[in-house]
Amino acid sequence: MLRESVRRFAEDVVGPKVREMDENEMMDPEIIKSLFEQGLMGIETSVDHGGSEMSFTSAIIAIEELARVDPSVSVMCDVHNTLVNTVIRTHGTQEQKEKWLPLLAQTTLGSFCLSEPASGSDAFALQTRAKKDGDHWILNGTKMWITNSYEADIFLIFANVDPSKGYKGITCFLATKDMGIKIAKKEQKLGIRASSTCSLAFDDLRIPAENIIGGEGKGYKIAIEILNEGM
Ligand SMILES: Cc1cc2nc3c(=O)[nH]c(=O)nc-3n(C[C@H](O)[C@H](O)[C@H](O)COP(=O)(O)OP(=O)(O)OC[C@H]3O[C@@H](n4cnc5c(N)ncnc54)[C@H](O)[C@@H]3O)c2cc1C
Repeated sequence: MLRESVRRFAEDVVGPKVREMDENEMMDPEIIKSLFEQGLMGIETSVDHGGSEMSFTSAIIAIEELARVDPSVSVMCDVHNTLVNTVIRTHGTQEQKEKWLPLLAQTTLGSFCLSEPASGSDAFALQTRAKKDGDHWILNGTKMWITNSYEADIFLIFANVDPSKGYKGITCFLATKDMGIKIAKKEQKLGIRASSTCSLAFDDLRIPAENIIGGEGKGYKIAIEILNEGM
């Protein structure tokens, strides 16, 4: 049933916009809105948190059917569900889940920010730093090739809180765009052109300490686990 309904949605709603979005290198906001309305942005999120409470296999089927018509729409949905939502579902506290999962399931696009100009495959060599300042953390650094970042309002950012501990200092922070995330550059690509891929700059980005996901120094474990399953 899911396969049939996503196939119909992809063909009827996404299909007519594929060429225009590709030529304009821009995701149509109506497509993002429709994905939320169809329950495709909280596929594994519990009903209690505003999601569709389906399985990982369901997420794969939905992403496959979207990709059949437009890989840009599919990668947007994939990153949002299998990276962003899954990090919060599996590593968030009860309060974090109650605060962020309903937004991510119903209205707000998410982005997963790990890669940097000098750390792609070697992700744990990342240079973004976080310093404690009272009940906040201050982030400085740059991320690169971040999917969904042009349209997103919720960002999971991996930064090192203690470089002397190497990768064991890497910590996952949740930030919102209005905290001061800047898009430094939107990449022009040869494929999946409607899916945004941007460089981001963090210039004394202040994040409340309560927005650490999974605990200080647990970011490397979260990233490995999530990337093994998602995307
Ligand atoms: C369209 C797009 C969307 C992306 N979206 C995101 C996103 O949402 N969030 C995010 O954090 N990142 C994102 N990325 C970044 C992506 O994760 C990196 O591109 C990827 O990790 C590879 O890093 P790199 O491009 O620096 O390549 P490199 O690490 O420089 O690798 C280049 C080549 O060298 C090979 N190589 C590297 N190291 C070794 C080694 N030790 N031994 C042998 N071979 C090696 C690699 O296999 C590859 O073939 C995105 C990238 C693209 C292109």
